[in-house]
Amino acid sequence: MTQVRADIATPTRTKDIIRKHGFSFKKSLGQNFLIDMNVMRRIVQSADLDEHTGALEIGPGIGALTEQLAKQASKVAAVEIDQRLIPILADVMEPYNNVSVVHGDVLKVDLQALFQEQFAEMDKVSVVANLPYYVTTPIMMKLLEERLPLKNIVVMIQKEVAERMAASPGGKEFGSLSVAVQYYSEPEIVCTVPPTVFIPQPNVESAVIRLKVRDKPPVEVNDESRFFEVVQASFTQRRKTIWNNLKARYSGDIGIDQLQTALETAEIDPSRRGETLSLEEFARLSEAIGSSYDAL
Ligand code: SAM
Repeated sequence: MTQVRADIATPTRTKDIIRKHGFSFKKSLGQNFLIDMNVMRRIVQSADLDEHTGALEIGPGIGALTEQLAKQASKVAAVEIDQRLIPILADVMEPYNNVSVVHGDVLKVDLQALFQEQFAEMDKVSVVANLPYYVTTPIMMKLLEERLPLKNIVVMIQKEVAERMAASPGGKEFGSLSVAVQYYSEPEIVCTVPPTVFIPQPNVESAVIRLKVRDKPPVEVNDESRFFEVVQASFTQRRKTIWNNLKARYSGDIGIDQLQTALETAEIDPSRRGETLSLEEFARLSEAIGSSYDAL
């Protein structure tokens, strides 16, 4: 008779696996394992997986989410940094032949090559992960900036960071992270999650966020690095006006007069603060500043 095993994302099975393998959590690697099947279902449903979509997981841990992805996607690749988890994953993933575990730091892995190796037959790939919170932003920026053939990115992250990613102009959460995320995707917070659904419990509230990756950015910019440079400069000191922030960054390069002209051309009142500007306005501003360089 085949034995029906409990899902890994339950307190009993998680504790069994940890005990069996003598595993100890490393706080420095952001190891907080999910032990709640309701939250798990919300994550997997939001990813909208089908037989043409692959799933890339970052940080599989002991495989709680990996197992659910294996049931929904035709192919799962999971990148885990902690060598101690590799044999555990080999053991628990034994029933699934559509899962590949890659040992490595996702920030150093060549994702383009990994996609070619793992997802060559897939139309698109969704990233689905309960991310290690200490590296959320660099991981998300790497995923977005590399222009991988991604459909959705569904991740559990710190609630405060999710709110910043999804913020609209005008609020205090709106900043350079919001602009960057919204340039590449359409973010939507799926649900907020209390610390009690993890072992061990993190010190912060969490949220599941879904980013629908855009085929093309919502605004047209000729020079993306200039666009992000202008965005960064505008938020350098949040309490300062856009004029003061931009003056500190650009007056040495293009001069005060050119900067003033650029703001006029972009139709932006210099007394505004960065957090009130829309993506469209940042795009106009970066084009105008770019033209000032060209005119030098
Ligand atoms: N997916 C599991 C779950 O939901 O229970 C574990 C999630 S836990 C929050 C984060 C996982 O990411 C851990 O397994 C940790 O070892 C791994 N990790 C941390 N930093 C990483 C990195 N730079 N690259 C790949 N994995 C990483």
